[in-house]
Amino acid sequence: MSEALLTLAPYIKVALPVPMRTLFDYKVPKAIALRHELKPGMRVKVPFGKSSRLGVIVALSDHSEWDPEQVKPLTSLHDKSPVISAELMALCEWAARYYHHPIGDVIFHALPVLLRKGENAEFRTENWWFTTEKGRATSLEQLSRAPRQQDFLKAVQQHPNGLSQHAASVLDLAPSAAKVLEEKGLLRKEPRSFNKGGEKHAHQTQVPPTLNVEQMRATEHLLDYRNQFHVALLDGVTGSGKTEVFLRVMERLIEEGKQILVMVPEIGLTPQTLKRFEIRFNTDIVLMHSNMSDRERLDAWLLAASGHAKIIIGTRSAAFIPAPNLGLIVIDEEHDTSYKQHEGFRYHARDLAIKRAQALDIPVLLASATPSYESLTNALQKRFAWLKLRQRAGNAHIPVMERVDLRGKTLVHGFSEQALASMKLCLERKEQVLVFLNRRGYAPTLMCHQCGWIAACDHCDVNLTVHKRANKLHCHHCDAQKALIHTCPECQSEALFTVGEGTEQIETQLSTLFKDTPILRIDRDSTQRKSAMAKLTQKIHEHDQAILIGTQMLAKGHHFPNVTLVIIMDADAGLFSSDFRGMERTAQLITQVAGRAGRAKKPGHVLLQTYHPDHAAIECLCNLGYEHFAIDGLAERKSLSLPPFYHQVIVRAESGNEQEAMQLLSAMRNDLEPFFAKDVYLVGPYTAIIVRKAGQHRALISIKAAQRAPLHQATQMMTNWLEQSTKQHRIRFAIDVDPLETY
Ligand code: ADP
Ligand code: ZN
Ligand code: ZN
Repeated sequence: MSEALLTLAPYIKVALPVPMRTLFDYKVPKAIALRHELKPGMRVKVPFGKSSRLGVIVALSDHSEWDPEQVKPLTSLHDKSPVISAELMALCEWAARYYHHPIGDVIFHALPVLLRKGENAEFRTENWWFTTEKGRATSLEQLSRAPRQQDFLKAVQQHPNGLSQHAASVLDLAPSAAKVLEEKGLLRKEPRSFNKGGEKHAHQTQVPPTLNVEQMRATEHLLDYRNQFHVALLDGVTGSGKTEVFLRVMERLIEEGKQILVMVPEIGLTPQTLKRFEIRFNTDIVLMHSNMSDRERLDAWLLAASGHAKIIIGTRSAAFIPAPNLGLIVIDEEHDTSYKQHEGFRYHARDLAIKRAQALDIPVLLASATPSYESLTNALQKRFAWLKLRQRAGNAHIPVMERVDLRGKTLVHGFSEQALASMKLCLERKEQVLVFLNRRGYAPTLMCHQCGWIAACDHCDVNLTVHKRANKLHCHHCDAQKALIHTCPECQSEALFTVGEGTEQIETQLSTLFKDTPILRIDRDSTQRKSAMAKLTQKIHEHDQAILIGTQMLAKGHHFPNVTLVIIMDADAGLFSSDFRGMERTAQLITQVAGRAGRAKKPGHVLLQTYHPDHAAIECLCNLGYEHFAIDGLAERKSLSLPPFYHQVIVRAESGNEQEAMQLLSAMRNDLEPFFAKDVYLVGPYTAIIVRKAGQHRALISIKAAQRAPLHQATQMMTNWLEQSTKQHRIRFAIDVDPLETY
């Protein structure tokens, strides 16, 4: 074969999962070029340093800027077709630029873990069992002495189209029994590709509710814009039927053969949500979240990539899921901060999804009862369509919010007299109370009565939380754990006592006050196991009267029809936050929790316990509601030149050494500030509020600008400077574009 017939691109540019903001050049050996067509998005094995690495081809090239002698050949090609489509490659490249993050890390982040490790991008095969003629003729009595074989044969006889290995294990059938039956010639097996979304669920036909006027208007608007890039903010009070609206739109798009990505917050995917989709759609639905095994995630990824899965419901990382016929992206609870990754590649899944939709020319629907200030601004400035639902769907009403003044009052286990009396009445009516306290564990502090010693984390500047049930002291910042102690390590006194209350303590105390009432706690500790949440919600639905105690987990998307009273134990938490987003978060949380009350036919009531009943923010939220509150908040942000009116980037540095991080950022500011555009403003370096976390001393510097371009340019300069300067030091740095945390 002549040279000319060889691939036109003798070089490839490869992304590797290393912290360097560059691509790496490799030669394509003739032997590989002759047999394979290399394409961007395929994985390759390449030599790197003294070892070899798996990388992803980003581009083919006819030249390299490096000395050809120094460019090494790739070792082997890993895929027959790209694992990253051209569409997703472009998204990754955009994200690497926008977030100033190494391209290799971005691309690897976009892939499921097993593909990062080199697994083939193919459906796994699994065995399916069928009866042979002999197996069909065999009566089950003949196997009465081998009950496990009997069970297995019975199950296969009941599935004339075959029983999958997966289904057999769901039915708890013994694989060893199948083997014996096969040897006896009663069963035969057949390997099949696992390309179905598990077992088909039983589709129930349910007549959907008739839409009210507001829902109808929103649905029609969304259908009108369904074939083009269009961002709509579906801003509807809790229980106003937002989900119902996007289910309608999805129905139409699925009829038209489209795939739909529904993004949900990290812990907001409730069994109820999934069930609602399954009942509604007789189509393949896949899930993508952090509670799945690596193999399950790859299966979901393959089902989406092959177009089999029509609906993909996923958390943050699903923003990168391949879907060749994607027709709509829905972002439920768009204000939720779990859409932003808080470490490593710090992207925002909502912003990424909007970028992706723009490139694909498809619509995005953002839904929330408490839209983020960013999205509200976009709606106010008419970049997003603003669809409002101001009435609760069906017969439900907006709950009444009432402040309970705690000043000078005697509290019983943190509850005011009024709160306890209301709880009693609510339970007597055979209804449910939801108690909200955003602090898990038994108590936030353990202290010595004799000498004042406080149990603190060895690695962070914070106190350890007492977890009585687990008998532990736990750091909620670095996850360090110790056994709970009963003697002071300083003075050996046994007079240790706890200060403050967490959900675990409230649970214990309420169970003495309300002896015969079922009490259910919902927080990260009580829902650790896989099916725990499903079991808890089932219990909630089983009982008439009950007390639910929970953290912000309870605020997300749940529908508890019998909850009529919500008690917010500490409405002041977050009121005096040092972060400028503190108010926004507090208002969102209170409104979301309050929204759990009275979602069905019975009216709801919300009690906010506060020491600041006249605080303008609490007053505004109670009397005028979230939208009014947010518009006031935005005016203040504007007057202070804060996001979303100014754009912000935070540079973080951390080091085991106490001063190093601060010194590094100071040096950077001194070196670079003279070169920044005039309208770029710097603050810092300053230390993080919790200076030491997991043994690292943390410093940050904030820069902001009204325009993206100069900010981007300054960030680029800082990134380059830091890459050079941290080579010799053990300092880690991170760039956080559009940060949600600024301390
Ligand atoms: P949101 O997503 O805004 O919280 P949902 O769509 O979950 O609201 O609706 C809340 C409840 O009201 C659900 O039980 C839903 O089935 C019901 N619902 C929604 N729309 C209607 C309607 N038009 N008529 C009657 N019930 C409705
Ligand atoms: Zn002591
Ligand atoms: Zn710690």
